[in-house]
Amino acid sequence: MTRRTDVLVVGAGPAGSAVAAHLSRAGLQVVLADRAAFPRDKACSEYLSPETVRLLDRLGVVADLEALGAQPLLGTRVIAPRGAKLCGSFARSARPPWRPSGLSVRRTLLDARLVELARASGAELAERTTVEDLLYDRGGVSGAVIRQADGGRDRIQARLVIGADGLRSVVARRIGRRRHLPPSRMAFVAHVAGVSGLDGFAEMHVSETGYVGLNRVALDADGRTIANVALVVPRAEARSAAGRVTDFFFDELGRFPGVRGRVPRGGVVREILVTGPFAAWSSRVVTDGALLVGDAAEFFDPFTGEGIGTALQGAEFAAQAAAAALQDGGQATAVRLAPYRLARRAAFAGRRAVERLVGYGMYFPALFDRAVERLERRGLADTFIGVTGDCLPARAVLNPAFLARMVL
Ligand SMILES: Cc1cc2nc3c(=O)[nH]c(=O)nc-3n(C[C@H](O)[C@H](O)[C@H](O)COP(=O)(O)OP(=O)(O)OC[C@H]3O[C@@H](n4cnc5c(N)ncnc54)[C@H](O)[C@@H]3O)c2cc1C
Repeated sequence: MTRRTDVLVVGAGPAGSAVAAHLSRAGLQVVLADRAAFPRDKACSEYLSPETVRLLDRLGVVADLEALGAQPLLGTRVIAPRGAKLCGSFARSARPPWRPSGLSVRRTLLDARLVELARASGAELAERTTVEDLLYDRGGVSGAVIRQADGGRDRIQARLVIGADGLRSVVARRIGRRRHLPPSRMAFVAHVAGVSGLDGFAEMHVSETGYVGLNRVALDADGRTIANVALVVPRAEARSAAGRVTDFFFDELGRFPGVRGRVPRGGVVREILVTGPFAAWSSRVVTDGALLVGDAAEFFDPFTGEGIGTALQGAEFAAQAAAAALQDGGQATAVRLAPYRLARRAAFAGRRAVERLVGYGMYFPALFDRAVERLERRGLADTFIGVTGDCLPARAVLNPAFLARMVL
C-alpha cells in the first residue's frame, strides 16, 4: 500500500516530536513514525540547561514536566582527573539566564510528553513503525519504505522526509556524508536510589580516560533521591563489559575517587542502558526532499549536556524552513531548505567548538586539571558553565583573553 502526506518525520524523540508539532501547527499534514512505542526510555544524563527549558517552555510543556517530578538543576560541578574542582552556577553566569535553574527529567516522561504534544498539534503518530529505506523520484527523496509491527511493509510518499532518527539514523546514512569523529566512547547509564551527597548541582567526575555524571533526576515515593549515574568510557575499554555490565559499571565507578562509595549497588532502580559509540555528524543536512535534525544531523558529546537543546532549537529552524519550502504545494528542494542549513551553522558553530575544546581537553589530564583549577580560582567557573548551558554565547569562552586566563 502507498499513502501520501506532506511531511514524514522519522523518529519521535525530542527533535522529531518538536518538528512534527511545529509543522502540524503550521497546517501541514504530518506523519510521525517511530520504531518504538511510547513511553520509551533512552540512555541520557537527563540534564536540561535553562536555555533548553526555555525551548521547552515555547512548546508549552514545562509546567507539566515539573508537575511530573522534574528536579531543578542549579549548575554543574566538575572534578578534574587530578582533583581540581570548579562549581558553576547558571544563576551567577554573567548574563542572567532566562530562569536561574535548568531541569533534570526522566526521558520516559520528557519524550512521552513531547510525543503527546505532537499528536495534540495534529500529527499522526505511527508507533512500532520502522523506516527501512528511502524512496526517490528524479534524484530527490520522495518518501520511505516502512515496516510495521506485524512485519508488513508499506510506502509513504512525502513532499519532505525529516530524518530525526537519532545517532544511528537510517535517513542520514542514505543521504550520505555521515562521518564519525574521535573520541569513540560508550556510555552506561543507570537510575540509582540512595546516592549520597547530591544536591541541585550535577557533578562531572573526569578521569584520564572517561567521566561519570551524577544528577538528581527524581524523588521516589519516600522522598529519596533517584540519581542518574552515567559512565562514559573509551570504546576499547567498554569491550570488557560484554556479559558483565553491572560488574563493569560498578568496578569503573570505583575508579573515580569522588564517586567511590556513594552509589549503592543495591539501589539500582532501572536497568543499566548501554549506548554508543558516539560522535557522528552529517556534513549534508539538507538534500532534495529531505533534511536531518537532532542527533541525526549532529551528535554533541554528553559532557556539555547540549543534545536536547540542540535538537529542539534545530527543530524550530527546520520547521521554519520546511514550512516556507512547502508553501507552494511542490516538493521541498535543497535550495529551498538552504536557510535551515545556514541557521544551524550560525547557531551551533560556537557550541560545537566549545564541545570539541572540552572533549579534546580530556586527552590532556594535566592541562584539564590546570584549566579547572584556574577557572575556579579566577572566578570564571560560572561563565564556563553558563556557556556549556547556553546561558551565554560561546564567544564568552572562545576568546584569547578567556582562554589565556584558563590555562596560563
Ligand atoms: C550517554 C548520553 C548522555 C546524554 N546526556 C544528555 C544530557 O544530559 N542532556 C542533553 O541535552 N543531551 C544529552 N544527551 C544527548 C541526547 O540524548 C540527544 O541529543 C537527544 O536524545 C537527541 O534527540 P533526537 O530526537 O535527535 O534523537 P533520539 O532521542 O535518539 O530519538 C530518535 C528516535 O528515532 C527512533 N528511530 C531510530 N531509528 C528509527 C527508524 N529507522 N525508524 C523509525 N524510528 C527510528 C528511535 O526509536 C528514537 O525514538 C546524551 C546522550 C547520551 C548518549
